[in-house]
Amino acid sequence: MGCNGGKSEKSDLNKKVWAWMAGKTTTADSDWEHMFSNAAQAGIDAIILECHGGYPEVLGDSLSFRDSAAIRIIKTALPFAQKYNLELHAWIWTTNRTEMSLRKAHPEWYQVNAQGESCLDIKLYNREHYRWICPSRPETLEYMKERVSELADIDGLAGIHLDFIRYPDAILPYGLHESRGVVQDKVYPLWDFCYCEVCRERFKAQTGTDPIELEDPTSNDAWMRYRWDVLASFASELSKEIKSHGKIASAAVFASPEESRKLVRQDWVNFRNTDILFPMIYHKFYSWEDSMVETATRQGVEELKAAGNPAVLCSGLFVGHVPKERIQEFFGYAVNGGSKGICLFSLEGINRTEGYWEALGEAVKEFKR
Ligand SMILES: [Zn+2]
Repeated sequence: MGCNGGKSEKSDLNKKVWAWMAGKTTTADSDWEHMFSNAAQAGIDAIILECHGGYPEVLGDSLSFRDSAAIRIIKTALPFAQKYNLELHAWIWTTNRTEMSLRKAHPEWYQVNAQGESCLDIKLYNREHYRWICPSRPETLEYMKERVSELADIDGLAGIHLDFIRYPDAILPYGLHESRGVVQDKVYPLWDFCYCEVCRERFKAQTGTDPIELEDPTSNDAWMRYRWDVLASFASELSKEIKSHGKIASAAVFASPEESRKLVRQDWVNFRNTDILFPMIYHKFYSWEDSMVETATRQGVEELKAAGNPAVLCSGLFVGHVPKERIQEFFGYAVNGGSKGICLFSLEGINRTEGYWEALGEAVKEFKR
């Protein structure tokens, strides 16, 4: 930090514009050049670059845990970011870890549902990438601290961004039920995680109850709280690790605190040490009206305050849900709700929508005025 002329200080987060982008080791120089120059031209300040997603690349010895591909992606992108004065953050998936090296070495680290099935043995929501490590285990935290550290060691990188830092969806966002062919009027055992040995034993030691025997686990406050707390602690510890390397810690979280706890057991207002929280207010996936962007933002800001959490909130918007003629209006919803800046998903979405770069450039100019 500091290498960007103090650009990353919290005081400068006001009206900062961010965007998520996917990176590959195969991304051509001309593509980095195109995306980063357009982003800078449109007034974007920071790019959150995916370097480890649901289908992570593997370089060299696949038995090694060191994420050489992620490191290479960041190191390749950095000179382009510096050229265009863009702040660069490394975006990784966190509890959702699909690397085969890990699955083979430690299948016992993976989450188990209320039917006793490991997420390694079933294809949840028919998604190959839905493989989740359990946040209760000290070993999974150690593993992720190592992954975070090897990236945080990169000079010139501004921060590490934790995505998929949650449980698998107990309930999918409401607007997705029909297309995914699920009926989720309540939480069903197939989608209710984590009932691994460690979680069951730890909860039983605390309360005397084996959670797998609960008639209605969702109505058991202590069992819900247990899962919220172990995940929040996992996020807090990882954030602390990121900051110990002098980098900014941030996380992508579900749209509002209440929906996050309910749908994915993610109590993000209690993620301590995380500098910036980016609620992904992709409102149409929740079947929400446009103005809910403002409401959800405000709920997040108010709950953070009530929890005594100094983290900054920056609303994430889905480009496909924000027509190019109305960008300004949506930025207004976020800012009126108390968001410090705006983060857009994604640069690719902007790039493939005719006229979006120009419209965004105009909107950002107006926004920062
Ligand atoms: Zn567990």
